[in-house]
Amino acid sequence: ITIKNSEFMTSAVKKDQYPEGGFPEVAFVGRSNVGKSTIINSLTNRKKLAKVSNTPGRTRLVNFFMIDNICSLVDLPGYGYAKISKSEKQAWGKIIEEYLMNRPDLRKVVLLVDARHKPTEDDVLMIEYLRHYSIEVLVVATKLDKLKRNDIKKSENIIRETLGLSEEKILFYSALTKENLQKVIDEIFSGILP
Ligand code: GDP
Repeated sequence: ITIKNSEFMTSAVKKDQYPEGGFPEVAFVGRSNVGKSTIINSLTNRKKLAKVSNTPGRTRLVNFFMIDNICSLVDLPGYGYAKISKSEKQAWGKIIEEYLMNRPDLRKVVLLVDARHKPTEDDVLMIEYLRHYSIEVLVVATKLDKLKRNDIKKSENIIRETLGLSEEKILFYSALTKENLQKVIDEIFSGILP
């Protein structure tokens, strides 16, 4: 699979602001600063499609992108940013939940985790939530270039164990070297395109 054309559609907070849809949709979630904007830019081969923000936790919108007029990608707000109030965190959670619960087009969620670190409590809550609602999940561990080759297997085991993965796949990705880019693209779109 190759992505030829991608364009920003719209940003939304509430469901009545979502685009009409009717295309299979893949959403990206993960804690703030995990590399969500960066991976969306790499997948689409665009430098600034999803803004790479230097103020983590500031993008609180659901961003929709159209891919080759056949499917769409959705960038959900990053969670787990420490420097915000409890009420702000709840507002964040509501935006993510509103999307996940109200989007019949949603076919798969890509959960991004940092390859170097044990997944956070928020990551665990997120995967449990997705499992509870039987939403298909693909786990992608980002920043592979920051991991020593010898530590990849260990990192995979920690991520698997913390997230309680069994059959589910994990892919490791580096936006710096583009290692595994094609594997990530193929896996994201596998089973969702006609
Ligand atoms: P977001 O908050 O999840 O959207 O994270 P960003 O995409 O803004 O990335 C956060 C920071 O991590 C930025 O400084 C990126 O350049 C950096 N980053 C993202 N992906 C990678 C990667 O694969 N390798 C390295 N070394 N840095 C990365």
